[in-house]
Amino acid sequence: MIEEARRLAPRFAARAAEHDRDGSFPAADFADLRDAGFFGLMVPKRLGGAGAGFAEYAAVAYELARGNGATALIFNMHASVTGALAGVSDELADALGLSAEALQARDDHLRAAADGSWYAVAMSERGAGSRLSKITTSYERTDGGYHIRGAKTFCSGAGHAGAYLVAARSADDPDQVSQFLVPAGDGLRVEETWDALGMRATGSHDLHVDATVPAGALLGGVEGLALVIAQIAPHWMVASYAAVYVGVARAAVDAAVEHVNQRKLGHLPAVRARIGRADAAVAAAHLAVLEAARRVDEQPGEAETTRWVWRAKLLAGTTAAEVAASMLEAAGTSAMRRGHPLERLYRDARAGSLQPATSDVCADWLGVDALGGDPDSDGSAPRW
Ligand SMILES: Cc1cc2nc3c(=O)[nH]c(=O)nc-3n(C[C@H](O)[C@H](O)[C@H](O)COP(=O)(O)OP(=O)(O)OC[C@H]3O[C@@H](n4cnc5c(N)ncnc54)[C@H](O)[C@@H]3O)c2cc1C
Repeated sequence: MIEEARRLAPRFAARAAEHDRDGSFPAADFADLRDAGFFGLMVPKRLGGAGAGFAEYAAVAYELARGNGATALIFNMHASVTGALAGVSDELADALGLSAEALQARDDHLRAAADGSWYAVAMSERGAGSRLSKITTSYERTDGGYHIRGAKTFCSGAGHAGAYLVAARSADDPDQVSQFLVPAGDGLRVEETWDALGMRATGSHDLHVDATVPAGALLGGVEGLALVIAQIAPHWMVASYAAVYVGVARAAVDAAVEHVNQRKLGHLPAVRARIGRADAAVAAAHLAVLEAARRVDEQPGEAETTRWVWRAKLLAGTTAAEVAASMLEAAGTSAMRRGHPLERLYRDARAGSLQPATSDVCADWLGVDALGGDPDSDGSAPRW
């Protein structure tokens, strides 16, 4: 599927300018992803998927992002939902006390993904960001299910997904934060608010929720698991974006090389050195992402794995913004025109360090840890 992602990337790149200009959903890219079986990438083989691990996901995300970072970012949300669901092993299910019905529901969601459904993530809220401890969307039990009410923001792919992972707080017991997979349709309303600097084609609009869902929509079947899952699987909450932004950074270098060759600027030492420095910086960030991803697969949950996850996110976000800015400067003013790939990549790359955990937050956690503290409790704000 890595090869397949490489094959699709040039098609995505050819469509990227139009979606960026209009802020429109890259529907043709998603049709290509569906046809090539990417929605089942993280789904275990026994349920009809490709059974990829986190390192394989990271390799795929990097290639897709070289075509269009926005498409790769929306796909990242689907991969996060399916990857986290697939990561609930039988041992973990036992430890968390999950019922047979909950495991059946997990398998049904995963099988549907392998059959061509895709999922978006509606976690963030205005004023709370993606911090689960601060969200105000709430749910209450009904006969046979739950009623969820609240407003979400920054929901990539809003209006196009088959279902939405919605994080909400129990009205009965506000300490319990749970996640639901809410099918598209009645009870969900998209408000088109996303007219942003970068990653415009993600269509990360507001989503208003007033929906009743069956019991099987509660992920894990037990209330209050959202924070536990965030702590067990920080790679999906933090590091999965990293591969996307390294891909965006590499695309910026590629676009600069093409521009510099066309304009015959390659004899200029300052231009060459910018490209050389950018190439080295992207390669280094890429290695950090690969190392984090390898450790997530081989040594999940270890303190050093978590440190690599934070390092990867920090380096990817910062490198993408710096490299894209430098490549624009190397290419010159003509690359600043609307529609030039470098102009879009410069704006898309800017979002990398802003996505949680932000570069500043990753640096804070790494610093607290290096100084012998506990990032869970000694950071400047609650970790989740
Ligand atoms: C392109 C894009 C796509 C997105 N797609 C989705 C999506 O599909 N679904 C979804 O749910 N969300 C999505 N998000 C939202 C994202 O997950 C965050 O919720 C959002 O970026 C956080 O909002 P914020 O920056 O306003 O707030 P905050 O996270 O509160 O950040 C504000 C400032 O406070 C700082 N800060 C925050 N916490 C700490 C801390 N602990 N220590 C020190 N400083 C801190 C930050 O560094 C930043 O400078 C997307 C965001 C982007 C940019």
